Amino acid sequence: MSRRSSKMKRVLSRLFKERQIYHRSDGVVHFISMSAKTQIALAVVVLAAAVWVAYSSVNVVFKEQIIVAKERERLVMQTNLSKRLHEAQKAYDDVNYLNNTIEREFDETMDDIWSRHRMLANMVERKAGIDQLLDTQADGLSAAGGPNGQKPTNGNRIMIDIAPGEPTPRQSRMSVLRKEAAAEAAIDKQKAAEDGLAAGAIESMEEAAADLYLEQLLLLASVEEKTAKEIDEFRRVIDSTGVSPDALITPAKISNIVLAQGGPFINPTNDDGEPVKFFQHANRTAALIDELNAVESTLNHLPLSSPLTVARRYTSGFGIRRDPINGRHSSHYGIDFAAPWASPVTATAAGVVKFAGTRSGFGRVVEIDHGNGFVTRYAHMSRITVKARQKVNLHDKVGELGSSGRSTGPHVHYEIMFKKRPINPRRFIEAGRYVFES
Ligand SMILES: [Zn+2]
Repeated sequence: MSRRSSKMKRVLSRLFKERQIYHRSDGVVHFISMSAKTQIALAVVVLAAAVWVAYSSVNVVFKEQIIVAKERERLVMQTNLSKRLHEAQKAYDDVNYLNNTIEREFDETMDDIWSRHRMLANMVERKAGIDQLLDTQADGLSAAGGPNGQKPTNGNRIMIDIAPGEPTPRQSRMSVLRKEAAAEAAIDKQKAAEDGLAAGAIESMEEAAADLYLEQLLLLASVEEKTAKEIDEFRRVIDSTGVSPDALITPAKISNIVLAQGGPFINPTNDDGEPVKFFQHANRTAALIDELNAVESTLNHLPLSSPLTVARRYTSGFGIRRDPINGRHSSHYGIDFAAPWASPVTATAAGVVKFAGTRSGFGRVVEIDHGNGFVTRYAHMSRITVKARQKVNLHDKVGELGSSGRSTGPHVHYEIMFKKRPINPRRFIEAGRYVFES
Protein backbone atom coordinates (compact mmCIF):
# COMPACT_ATOMS: atom_id res chain seq x y z
CA MET A 1 0.00 0.00 0.00
CA SER A 2 1.43 3.33 -0.94
CA ARG A 3 2.09 6.10 1.49
CA ARG A 4 -0.34 8.39 -0.28
CA SER A 5 -3.41 6.10 0.10
CA SER A 6 -2.59 5.37 3.74
CA LYS A 7 -2.49 9.14 4.36
CA MET A 8 -5.86 9.49 2.65
CA LYS A 9 -7.21 6.69 4.82
CA ARG A 10 -6.06 8.54 7.95
CA VAL A 11 -7.78 11.79 6.82
CA LEU A 12 -11.02 9.91 6.08
CA SER A 13 -11.01 8.07 9.41
CA ARG A 14 -10.47 11.40 11.26
CA LEU A 15 -13.37 13.04 9.36
CA PHE A 16 -15.77 10.16 9.56
CA LYS A 17 -15.34 8.87 13.13
CA GLU A 18 -17.96 6.49 14.31
CA ARG A 19 -20.80 8.67 15.49
CA GLN A 20 -23.98 8.07 17.44
CA ILE A 21 -27.06 10.18 17.02
CA TYR A 22 -29.34 10.34 19.99
CA HIS A 23 -33.01 10.83 19.63
CA ARG A 24 -35.61 11.17 22.35
CA SER A 25 -39.31 10.61 21.83
CA ASP A 26 -42.01 9.83 24.40
CA GLY A 27 -39.31 9.72 27.07
CA VAL A 28 -37.49 6.95 25.35
CA VAL A 29 -34.01 7.66 24.13
CA HIS A 30 -32.99 5.99 20.94
CA PHE A 31 -29.67 6.19 19.26
CA ILE A 32 -28.51 5.36 15.83
CA SER A 33 -24.99 4.33 15.41
CA MET A 34 -23.35 5.48 12.11
CA SER A 35 -20.25 3.78 10.91
CA ALA A 36 -17.58 5.61 8.92
CA LYS A 37 -18.66 3.77 5.78
CA THR A 38 -22.28 4.86 6.22
CA GLN A 39 -21.15 8.44 6.77
CA ILE A 40 -19.03 8.38 3.60
CA ALA A 41 -21.90 6.92 1.58
CA LEU A 42 -24.26 9.54 2.97
CA ALA A 43 -21.80 12.30 2.27
CA VAL A 44 -21.41 11.10 -1.33
CA VAL A 45 -25.18 11.01 -1.79
CA VAL A 46 -25.55 14.50 -0.28
CA LEU A 47 -22.72 15.83 -2.38
CA ALA A 48 -24.13 14.27 -5.56
CA ALA A 49 -27.53 15.77 -4.78
CA ALA A 50 -25.91 19.16 -4.19
CA VAL A 51 -24.00 18.96 -7.48
CA TRP A 52 -27.12 17.93 -9.35
CA VAL A 53 -29.12 20.77 -7.81
CA ALA A 54 -26.35 23.23 -8.61
CA TYR A 55 -26.05 21.96 -12.15
CA SER A 56 -29.84 22.04 -12.69
CA SER A 57 -30.08 25.55 -11.30
CA VAL A 58 -27.22 26.81 -13.39
CA ASN A 59 -28.66 24.98 -16.37
CA VAL A 60 -32.09 26.51 -15.88
CA VAL A 61 -30.76 29.96 -15.10
CA PHE A 62 -28.18 30.10 -17.87
CA LYS A 63 -29.92 27.99 -20.47
CA GLU A 64 -31.03 31.07 -22.33
CA GLN A 65 -27.52 32.48 -22.35
CA ILE A 66 -26.05 29.13 -23.39
CA ILE A 67 -28.47 28.86 -26.29
CA VAL A 68 -27.70 32.41 -27.35
CA ALA A 69 -23.95 31.77 -27.03
CA LYS A 70 -24.23 28.55 -29.00
CA GLU A 71 -26.26 30.30 -31.66
CA ARG A 72 -23.63 33.03 -31.85
CA GLU A 73 -20.91 30.42 -32.15
CA ARG A 74 -22.84 28.69 -34.89
CA LEU A 75 -23.29 31.95 -36.77
CA VAL A 76 -19.58 32.72 -36.47
CA MET A 77 -18.74 29.29 -37.79
CA GLN A 78 -21.22 29.66 -40.61
CA THR A 79 -19.81 33.04 -41.53
CA ASN A 80 -16.30 31.66 -41.52
CA LEU A 81 -17.39 28.75 -43.62
CA SER A 82 -19.12 30.87 -46.22
CA LYS A 83 -16.12 33.18 -46.24
CA ARG A 84 -13.87 30.22 -46.97
CA LEU A 85 -16.28 28.95 -49.58
CA HIS A 86 -16.26 32.36 -51.18
CA GLU A 87 -12.48 32.41 -51.14
CA ALA A 88 -12.36 28.95 -52.65
CA GLN A 89 -14.85 30.01 -55.32
CA LYS A 90 -12.75 33.07 -56.10
CA ALA A 91 -9.60 30.98 -56.29
CA TYR A 92 -11.41 28.59 -58.60
CA ASP A 93 -12.62 31.47 -60.74
CA ASP A 94 -9.10 32.87 -60.88
CA VAL A 95 -7.66 29.54 -61.96
CA ASN A 96 -10.46 29.18 -64.46
CA TYR A 97 -9.81 32.66 -65.80
CA LEU A 98 -6.11 31.87 -65.95
CA ASN A 99 -6.81 28.65 -67.81
CA ASN A 100 -9.13 30.33 -70.25
CA THR A 101 -6.75 33.20 -70.83
CA ILE A 102 -3.80 30.91 -71.38
CA GLU A 103 -5.86 28.63 -73.58
CA ARG A 104 -7.09 31.54 -75.68
CA GLU A 105 -3.60 33.01 -75.98
CA PHE A 106 -2.22 29.58 -76.82
CA ASP A 107 -4.84 29.00 -79.52
CA GLU A 108 -4.23 32.43 -81.02
CA THR A 109 -0.47 31.94 -80.96
CA MET A 110 -0.74 28.49 -82.51
CA ASP A 111 -3.07 29.81 -85.20
CA ASP A 112 -0.55 32.52 -86.05
CA ILE A 113 2.33 30.06 -86.19
CA TRP A 114 0.33 27.62 -88.30
CA SER A 115 -0.89 30.20 -90.78
CA ARG A 116 2.67 31.43 -91.24
CA HIS A 117 3.90 27.86 -91.55
CA ARG A 118 1.30 27.06 -94.22
CA MET A 119 2.27 30.17 -96.15
CA LEU A 120 5.95 29.26 -95.91
CA ALA A 121 5.37 25.64 -96.91
CA ASN A 122 3.28 26.85 -99.84
CA MET A 123 6.03 29.13 -101.09
CA VAL A 124 8.86 26.67 -100.58
CA GLU A 125 6.86 23.99 -102.39
CA ARG A 126 5.96 26.29 -105.27
CA LYS A 127 9.54 27.48 -105.64
CA ALA A 128 10.82 23.90 -105.54
CA GLY A 129 8.43 23.04 -108.39
CA ILE A 130 9.75 25.91 -110.53
CA ASP A 131 13.35 25.04 -109.67
CA GLN A 132 12.75 21.47 -110.78
CA LEU A 133 11.49 22.66 -114.18
CA LEU A 134 14.54 24.91 -114.48
CA ASP A 135 16.85 22.03 -113.56
CA THR A 136 15.26 19.76 -116.17
CA GLN A 137 15.78 22.43 -118.80
CA ALA A 138 19.33 23.02 -117.56
CA ASP A 139 20.15 19.33 -117.88
CA GLY A 140 18.77 19.27 -121.44
CA LEU A 141 20.73 22.32 -122.54
CA SER A 142 23.81 21.10 -120.77
CA ALA A 143 23.59 17.81 -122.69
CA ALA A 144 23.31 19.71 -126.00
CA GLY A 145 26.40 21.79 -125.18
CA GLY A 146 27.75 24.88 -126.97
CA PRO A 147 27.57 25.70 -130.71
CA ASN A 148 30.20 23.06 -131.53
CA GLY A 149 28.81 20.71 -128.92
CA GLN A 150 31.36 21.71 -126.26
CA LYS A 151 30.49 20.14 -122.95
CA PRO A 152 30.89 21.94 -119.64
CA THR A 153 34.53 22.16 -118.65
CA ASN A 154 34.11 22.73 -114.94
CA GLY A 155 31.46 22.54 -112.25
CA ASN A 156 31.07 26.28 -111.84
CA ARG A 157 28.42 28.30 -113.50
CA ILE A 158 29.83 30.71 -116.04
CA MET A 159 27.21 33.12 -114.69
CA ILE A 160 29.59 33.97 -111.89
CA ASP A 161 31.75 35.80 -114.46
CA ILE A 162 28.98 38.16 -115.49
CA ALA A 163 27.23 38.49 -112.10
CA PRO A 164 28.14 41.67 -110.18
CA GLY A 165 29.06 41.33 -106.49
CA GLU A 166 26.20 41.40 -104.01
CA PRO A 167 25.56 45.00 -102.92
CA THR A 168 24.94 44.11 -99.27
CA PRO A 169 26.56 41.20 -97.44
CA ARG A 170 23.95 38.59 -96.62
CA GLN A 171 24.98 38.40 -92.98
CA SER A 172 24.26 42.05 -92.20
CA ARG A 173 20.85 41.86 -93.87
CA MET A 174 20.02 38.87 -91.70
CA SER A 175 21.01 40.72 -88.55
CA VAL A 176 18.79 43.65 -89.56
CA LEU A 177 15.91 41.21 -89.97
CA ARG A 178 16.73 39.64 -86.62
CA LYS A 179 16.53 43.05 -84.93
CA GLU A 180 13.25 43.88 -86.62
CA ALA A 181 11.74 40.57 -85.61
CA ALA A 182 12.93 40.96 -82.02
CA ALA A 183 11.35 44.44 -81.83
CA GLU A 184 8.05 43.02 -83.05
CA ALA A 185 8.21 40.17 -80.58
CA ALA A 186 8.69 42.74 -77.79
CA ILE A 187 5.28 44.26 -78.62
CA ASP A 188 3.67 40.91 -77.93
CA LYS A 189 5.52 40.53 -74.65
CA GLN A 190 4.24 43.89 -73.42
CA LYS A 191 0.70 42.85 -74.19
CA ALA A 192 1.18 39.70 -72.15
CA ALA A 193 2.59 41.61 -69.18
CA GLU A 194 -0.59 43.72 -68.96
CA ASP A 195 -2.65 40.60 -68.39
CA GLY A 196 -1.39 40.31 -64.79
CA LEU A 197 -2.47 36.95 -63.42
CA ALA A 198 -1.71 34.94 -66.54
CA ALA A 199 1.37 37.00 -67.35
CA GLY A 200 3.99 34.50 -66.22
CA ALA A 201 2.59 31.56 -68.13
CA ILE A 202 1.84 33.61 -71.20
CA GLU A 203 5.20 35.31 -71.13
CA SER A 204 7.14 32.09 -71.46
CA MET A 205 4.83 30.98 -74.23
CA GLU A 206 5.25 34.32 -76.00
CA GLU A 207 9.01 33.93 -75.72
CA ALA A 208 8.88 30.55 -77.44
CA ALA A 209 6.49 31.96 -80.05
CA ALA A 210 8.82 34.91 -80.63
CA ASP A 211 11.72 32.53 -81.26
CA LEU A 212 9.60 30.61 -83.77
CA TYR A 213 8.46 33.86 -85.39
CA LEU A 214 12.09 34.85 -85.84
CA GLU A 215 12.97 31.48 -87.37
CA GLN A 216 10.03 31.68 -89.75
CA LEU A 217 10.90 35.23 -90.74
CA LEU A 218 14.52 34.29 -91.44
CA LEU A 219 13.47 31.24 -93.45
CA LEU A 220 11.09 33.39 -95.47
CA ALA A 221 13.79 36.02 -95.98
CA SER A 222 16.17 33.36 -97.25
CA VAL A 223 13.55 32.08 -99.73
CA GLU A 224 12.99 35.68 -100.79
CA GLU A 225 16.71 36.28 -101.24
CA LYS A 226 17.36 33.07 -103.20
CA THR A 227 14.38 33.72 -105.48
CA ALA A 228 15.51 37.30 -106.13
CA LYS A 229 19.02 36.04 -106.91
CA GLU A 230 17.73 33.43 -109.36
CA ILE A 231 15.53 35.97 -111.13
CA ASP A 232 18.49 38.30 -111.37
CA GLU A 233 20.70 35.59 -112.88
CA PHE A 234 18.15 34.47 -115.44
CA ARG A 235 17.27 38.02 -116.42
CA ARG A 236 20.95 38.67 -117.11
CA VAL A 237 21.09 35.54 -119.25
CA ILE A 238 18.06 36.66 -121.26
CA ASP A 239 19.65 40.10 -121.53
CA SER A 240 22.82 38.54 -122.98
CA THR A 241 20.80 37.30 -126.01
CA GLY A 242 20.31 40.93 -127.01
CA VAL A 243 16.56 40.87 -126.30
CA SER A 244 15.48 42.87 -123.24
CA PRO A 245 14.00 40.65 -120.49
CA ASP A 246 11.44 43.40 -119.81
CA ALA A 247 10.02 42.81 -123.31
CA LEU A 248 9.52 39.10 -122.48
CA ILE A 249 8.61 38.81 -118.81
CA THR A 250 5.23 40.09 -117.73
CA PRO A 251 5.58 41.65 -114.28
CA ALA A 252 3.46 39.93 -111.61
CA LYS A 253 0.68 41.76 -109.84
CA ILE A 254 1.21 41.59 -106.06
CA SER A 255 -2.46 41.62 -105.09
CA ASN A 256 -3.19 38.39 -106.99
CA ILE A 257 -0.23 36.37 -105.89
CA VAL A 258 -0.76 35.33 -102.30
CA LEU A 259 -4.42 34.72 -103.13
CA ALA A 260 -3.40 32.54 -106.05
CA GLN A 261 -1.27 30.50 -103.69
CA GLY A 262 -4.23 29.83 -101.43
CA GLY A 263 -3.19 32.29 -98.75
CA PRO A 264 -4.90 35.51 -97.79
CA PHE A 265 -3.44 38.73 -99.05
CA ILE A 266 -2.39 40.66 -95.98
CA ASN A 267 -2.32 44.39 -96.18
CA PRO A 268 0.72 45.39 -94.13
CA THR A 269 -0.58 48.94 -93.70
CA ASN A 270 -3.36 47.66 -91.40
CA ASP A 271 -0.96 47.72 -88.49
CA ASP A 272 -2.57 47.31 -85.07
CA GLY A 273 0.61 46.30 -83.28
CA GLU A 274 0.59 42.75 -84.65
CA PRO A 275 3.79 41.43 -86.19
CA VAL A 276 3.58 42.51 -89.83
CA LYS A 277 7.13 42.00 -91.06
CA PHE A 278 6.39 38.39 -91.93
CA PHE A 279 3.47 39.37 -94.11
CA GLN A 280 5.37 42.16 -95.79
CA HIS A 281 8.04 39.62 -96.70
CA ALA A 282 5.40 37.01 -97.58
CA ASN A 283 3.78 39.37 -100.07
CA ARG A 284 7.13 40.28 -101.55
CA THR A 285 8.33 36.66 -101.71
CA ALA A 286 5.06 35.57 -103.31
CA ALA A 287 5.53 38.28 -105.94
CA LEU A 288 9.10 37.11 -106.55
CA ILE A 289 8.08 33.46 -106.86
CA ASP A 290 5.46 34.50 -109.39
CA GLU A 291 8.12 36.40 -111.28
CA LEU A 292 10.46 33.39 -111.16
CA ASN A 293 7.59 31.35 -112.58
CA ALA A 294 7.27 33.87 -115.43
CA VAL A 295 11.04 33.77 -115.96
CA GLU A 296 10.98 29.95 -116.07
CA SER A 297 8.16 29.99 -118.61
CA THR A 298 10.04 32.57 -120.69
CA LEU A 299 13.26 30.53 -120.55
CA ASN A 300 11.37 27.35 -121.43
CA HIS A 301 10.09 29.00 -124.61
CA LEU A 302 13.37 30.74 -125.44
CA PRO A 303 15.45 28.89 -128.11
CA LEU A 304 18.65 28.56 -126.09
CA SER A 305 19.84 25.24 -127.54
CA SER A 306 21.42 24.22 -130.82
CA PRO A 307 19.25 22.25 -133.31
CA LEU A 308 21.61 19.26 -133.15
CA THR A 309 22.47 17.41 -129.97
CA VAL A 310 24.79 14.93 -131.72
CA ALA A 311 28.43 15.63 -132.63
CA ARG A 312 28.47 18.46 -135.22
CA ARG A 313 30.54 21.18 -136.77
CA TYR A 314 29.60 24.86 -136.71
CA THR A 315 30.23 25.74 -140.37
CA SER A 316 28.73 29.14 -141.07
CA GLY A 317 27.85 32.21 -139.03
CA PHE A 318 25.20 34.90 -139.16
CA GLY A 319 25.52 38.01 -141.37
CA ILE A 320 27.22 38.96 -144.64
CA ARG A 321 29.15 36.12 -146.25
CA ARG A 322 30.26 34.80 -149.61
CA ASP A 323 27.45 32.69 -151.08
CA PRO A 324 28.67 29.05 -151.35
CA ILE A 325 26.78 28.51 -154.64
CA ASN A 326 27.15 31.66 -156.72
CA GLY A 327 30.18 33.12 -154.88
CA ARG A 328 28.51 36.54 -154.45
CA HIS A 329 28.31 38.41 -151.14
CA SER A 330 24.92 38.06 -149.55
CA SER A 331 23.21 38.08 -146.17
CA HIS A 332 23.02 34.81 -144.26
CA TYR A 333 20.07 35.03 -141.83
CA GLY A 334 20.94 31.90 -139.87
CA ILE A 335 23.76 29.59 -138.84
CA ASP A 336 24.80 26.23 -140.32
CA PHE A 337 25.80 22.99 -138.67
CA ALA A 338 27.32 19.98 -140.46
CA ALA A 339 26.72 16.44 -139.15
CA PRO A 340 26.19 12.92 -140.57
CA TRP A 341 23.25 12.38 -142.93
CA ALA A 342 19.90 11.68 -141.15
CA SER A 343 21.13 12.93 -137.77
CA PRO A 344 18.09 13.94 -135.67
CA VAL A 345 17.23 17.65 -135.89
CA THR A 346 15.56 18.75 -132.64
CA ALA A 347 13.48 21.66 -131.37
CA THR A 348 15.58 24.29 -129.57
CA ALA A 349 12.74 25.13 -127.12
CA ALA A 350 9.12 24.27 -126.35
CA GLY A 351 6.56 25.51 -128.87
CA VAL A 352 4.02 24.65 -131.55
CA VAL A 353 4.88 23.58 -135.12
CA LYS A 354 3.85 26.48 -137.34
CA PHE A 355 4.95 25.03 -140.69
CA ALA A 356 6.20 21.62 -141.81
CA GLY A 357 6.80 21.21 -145.55
CA THR A 358 8.84 22.48 -148.49
CA ARG A 359 9.84 26.09 -149.13
CA SER A 360 11.79 27.46 -152.08
CA GLY A 361 15.54 27.47 -151.25
CA PHE A 362 15.03 25.90 -147.79
CA GLY A 363 13.96 22.48 -149.08
CA ARG A 364 12.23 20.41 -146.38
CA VAL A 365 11.74 22.86 -143.57
CA VAL A 366 10.05 23.05 -140.16
CA GLU A 367 9.10 26.30 -138.40
CA ILE A 368 8.22 26.39 -134.69
CA ASP A 369 6.37 29.20 -132.92
CA HIS A 370 7.66 29.57 -129.33
CA GLY A 371 5.43 32.49 -128.34
CA ASN A 372 6.68 35.88 -127.14
CA GLY A 373 7.37 36.68 -130.84
CA PHE A 374 9.99 33.91 -131.33
CA VAL A 375 9.97 31.55 -134.33
CA THR A 376 12.74 29.07 -135.19
CA ARG A 377 13.42 27.52 -138.62
CA TYR A 378 15.18 24.21 -139.44
CA ALA A 379 16.03 23.84 -143.17
CA HIS A 380 17.54 21.46 -145.80
CA MET A 381 16.28 18.33 -143.99
CA SER A 382 16.01 14.93 -145.68
CA ARG A 383 12.87 14.01 -143.79
CA ILE A 384 10.23 15.79 -141.65
CA THR A 385 8.83 13.93 -138.61
CA VAL A 386 6.28 16.47 -137.25
CA LYS A 387 3.03 17.99 -138.48
CA ALA A 388 1.73 21.56 -138.35
CA ARG A 389 0.02 22.58 -135.04
CA GLN A 390 1.86 19.78 -133.21
CA LYS A 391 3.17 20.72 -129.75
CA VAL A 392 6.87 20.09 -129.16
CA ASN A 393 9.21 20.28 -126.19
CA LEU A 394 12.90 21.06 -125.96
CA HIS A 395 14.93 18.49 -127.98
CA ASP A 396 11.88 16.76 -129.51
CA LYS A 397 12.86 15.44 -132.96
CA VAL A 398 11.36 17.47 -135.83
CA GLY A 399 13.19 15.81 -138.75
CA GLU A 400 16.42 14.34 -140.12
CA LEU A 401 19.46 16.18 -141.44
CA GLY A 402 19.84 16.29 -145.24
CA SER A 403 20.71 18.54 -148.15
CA SER A 404 17.34 19.45 -149.69
CA GLY A 405 16.79 22.88 -151.33
CA ARG A 406 19.64 25.27 -152.07
CA SER A 407 22.38 23.27 -150.36
CA THR A 408 25.86 22.01 -151.24
CA GLY A 409 26.13 19.18 -148.68
CA PRO A 410 24.45 17.60 -145.64
CA HIS A 411 23.86 20.35 -143.04
CA VAL A 412 21.08 22.07 -141.12
CA HIS A 413 20.40 25.74 -141.62
CA TYR A 414 18.97 27.19 -138.41
CA GLU A 415 17.26 30.58 -137.94
CA ILE A 416 15.67 32.49 -135.06
CA MET A 417 13.17 35.23 -135.86
CA PHE A 418 12.03 37.67 -133.19
CA LYS A 419 8.96 39.64 -134.21
CA LYS A 420 9.55 38.53 -137.83
CA ARG A 421 13.16 39.84 -137.91
CA PRO A 422 16.07 37.39 -138.07
CA ILE A 423 18.50 37.56 -135.11
CA ASN A 424 21.79 35.81 -134.44
CA PRO A 425 21.08 32.31 -133.00
CA ARG A 426 24.65 31.98 -131.77
CA ARG A 427 24.03 34.54 -129.00
CA PHE A 428 21.12 32.41 -127.76
CA ILE A 429 23.16 29.20 -127.74
CA GLU A 430 25.93 31.00 -125.83
CA ALA A 431 23.34 32.41 -123.40
CA GLY A 432 22.08 28.86 -122.86
CA ARG A 433 25.59 27.83 -121.91
CA TYR A 434 25.90 30.75 -119.51
CA VAL A 435 22.96 29.58 -117.48
CA PHE A 436 23.13 25.91 -117.75
CA GLU A 437 26.74 24.93 -118.03
CA SER A 438 26.91 23.51 -114.60
ZN1 LIG B 1 22.58 28.45 -143.85
